[in-house]
Amino acid sequence: MARIRRERPVLLAAILSALAALAAGMNKWVVLVLLLVMILTALFNEAPIIEAEPAPPVEIEPEAPPSRLPEVSATLSGLDIPVMVLSDDASVLFQNRAAEKAFGEVALGAHISARLRSPGVLDMVRETIATNAPNQIEHAERLPSERVYMVRSAPIEFAADERYFILSFRDISEVRRIDRMRSDFVANASHELRTPLASLRGFIETIQGPAKNDLKAQARFLNIMLDQTTRMSRLVDDLLSLSRLELKSHIAPDEKVDLVPLLGHVRDALVPLATDVGVAINLHLPDGKVEVLGDRDELVQVFENLMENACKYGQEGEVVDVWLKNGTGQPVEVSIVDKGPGIPAEHVPRLTERFYRVSIEDSRSKKGTGLGLAIVKHILTRHRARLIVKSEVGKGTNFTVRF
Ligand code: ADP
Repeated sequence: MARIRRERPVLLAAILSALAALAAGMNKWVVLVLLLVMILTALFNEAPIIEAEPAPPVEIEPEAPPSRLPEVSATLSGLDIPVMVLSDDASVLFQNRAAEKAFGEVALGAHISARLRSPGVLDMVRETIATNAPNQIEHAERLPSERVYMVRSAPIEFAADERYFILSFRDISEVRRIDRMRSDFVANASHELRTPLASLRGFIETIQGPAKNDLKAQARFLNIMLDQTTRMSRLVDDLLSLSRLELKSHIAPDEKVDLVPLLGHVRDALVPLATDVGVAINLHLPDGKVEVLGDRDELVQVFENLMENACKYGQEGEVVDVWLKNGTGQPVEVSIVDKGPGIPAEHVPRLTERFYRVSIEDSRSKKGTGLGLAIVKHILTRHRARLIVKSEVGKGTNFTVRF
């Protein structure tokens, strides 16, 4: 505590006055007595002692660090995957634009359950908040479109007093679809090969056993075996075509191909098959060249597959018309039209899937592999062209390729 004594200036003044009095010639004893009186007065005088008021204790609060939330939100807003930031009571503090688009807007501060009702996701969030450990779970959304997400919840590591959690959604729908396609494909391909193989094995055993000495039966069986091996090699050829096409699907072909002679060539090659099934293929071609950018061999394969299908499946109509249209300012179009039984509408969207057939028996009996239209679709995708299918049950089918 600070104490300020006032007596010092008084004493000084007394001494100075005494010296002045002596100098003025006063009696030294009188001066001495006066000096003593002044000293005693000064010492015992109740001179105010000014004590400095104690300053009220000032409690200086440690300055709170600024919240990191705006910084985090700004960073996450640019991400193209849905992301939300949650508080430690699971309310939504921030969601980026991708999250708004995927799940709709949610009022900030609302509990996460206001937007996501999946018990799995909510349990996971609760667990992450309780344990501070990251978790992830697969979650399917039905609306606005069917999607599968890998949802991950994790704490954001900040100073101990700022607890935020991040909820991110990685869209794995496409990965799941491709996985399913791949395993379906392997299952289908093995199944297609297993059937002729089993039949071959059966005939070989018969020829080695019961039909060992029956030359007539052997000749019949060998014919069937030849059919089965031809079927297997067709299937393997188609599978190889598909895999080759997949490898170069991103490279657009740049060769100029004239469709007029190409369609004539395909028709000629199919005459034996068409005659076999009693069908006439009529070409309707314009005069002059009709050129498109393409790969000649691949385009031959497209029109071979489509004309062969029209002959095989539209055989009752007895005629297949092939139109090549090239109006000025219009896209080049090739239409293959049969007057067969047609295709029920529910099958049309799936025709280009691998191994998809309206009737498996019908396709097998016509030496089909179920891969013809899948190959057509692959080639056309590479050519940036479209396949348009119009069919009416009882009237016939029109497959149009639009370049
Ligand atoms: P497939 O080798 O079985 O012919 P595709 O992929 O070429 O396989 O055709 C798939 C299926 O589409 C066929 O099995 C058949 O059911 C149907 N289809 C294709 N073209 C026609 C057509 N012109 N008329 C009727 N059905 C057809």
